[in-house]
Amino acid sequence: MQVFNWINKGITNFDEMTDISKELREEFKLKYAIPDAVIEEKFVSKIDGTIKYLLKLHDAEFIESVLMKYHHGYSICISTQVGCKMGCKFCATGKGGFSRDLYPSEMISQIHTAQKDNNIRVSNVVLMGIGEPLDNYDNTVKFLKLISSHQGLNIGMRHISVSTCGIVDKIYKLADEKLQVTLSVSLHETNDEKRSQIMPVNNKWKIGEIIKACNYYFLKTNRRVSFEYTLIKNVNDSSGHAKSLIKLLRGMNCYINIIPINSIEGGIYGECTKAEVINFCNILINAGVTATIRRTLGLDINASCGQLKARNVKTFLGRNNKIESIQQN
Ligand code: SF4
Repeated sequence: MQVFNWINKGITNFDEMTDISKELREEFKLKYAIPDAVIEEKFVSKIDGTIKYLLKLHDAEFIESVLMKYHHGYSICISTQVGCKMGCKFCATGKGGFSRDLYPSEMISQIHTAQKDNNIRVSNVVLMGIGEPLDNYDNTVKFLKLISSHQGLNIGMRHISVSTCGIVDKIYKLADEKLQVTLSVSLHETNDEKRSQIMPVNNKWKIGEIIKACNYYFLKTNRRVSFEYTLIKNVNDSSGHAKSLIKLLRGMNCYINIIPINSIEGGIYGECTKAEVINFCNILINAGVTATIRRTLGLDINASCGQLKARNVKTFLGRNNKIESIQQN
């Protein structure tokens, strides 16, 4: 319990755990290590104060996290894996491949690092950085339980969003945990054939199966599911697409986050104009679907997850980039 308390204060060096006897600290040092993350680079947006961190792990792997300030407090978008296996075509993190899962301590460390660096308390956590949280299921659930614990960071489950590209069996498993976190599904397409083209995970679990799993999630947790829809010029932005979205989600207790794609240099997908984004959103709203347009923060610092790592990893490891927008909680 003493070690847990220290870790929750952001202390990961046994020598600094002064209420533990010196002999025990020496023994811990020989037997255990607490995987941590340290700041390699940091960028602060001049537009909105969003801070993007490139963090180095004990094995010289890199991850990213993004700290955003909202009227309700600080929200952090964290990574759950080094790289990703899912291979979504619009996300260059996926193209860069997968190295390993993050330990719960490495996920917690992203919060501690941002808190210590800014002398603030994070009140909202979004698992939408590098990696697919439900592909690192056990560590993700351990992390959720640890940060929401009263002895831990005490961040309420309702202030945490878990994003997934649609790992259906794990959505059912998470529903049965009854954790009260918001489930956020990256949908992006309503047609199976087209979704499979941009999200290979759809070859395994079709849209209909995802919808069924999301209804189960709502049934078990009473939490509205959020669907992320990245709007891509001439790919999924027509009024026909909006109408299929309305048909697909009719009767569900859910809401849609429209994410205008944040195009990057060399990216193959184009951005819609502001008017096109608003028009798409209004079609949904007029049909009675709850829809919002996600505000993009940190535009001047490439705050979308993966972009900072990509730049560095291109230099150091030859990895690629990711163009997904950051989550607004
Ligand atoms: S969008 Fe998410 S799930 Fe898809 S490849 Fe990128 S990190 Fe993985």
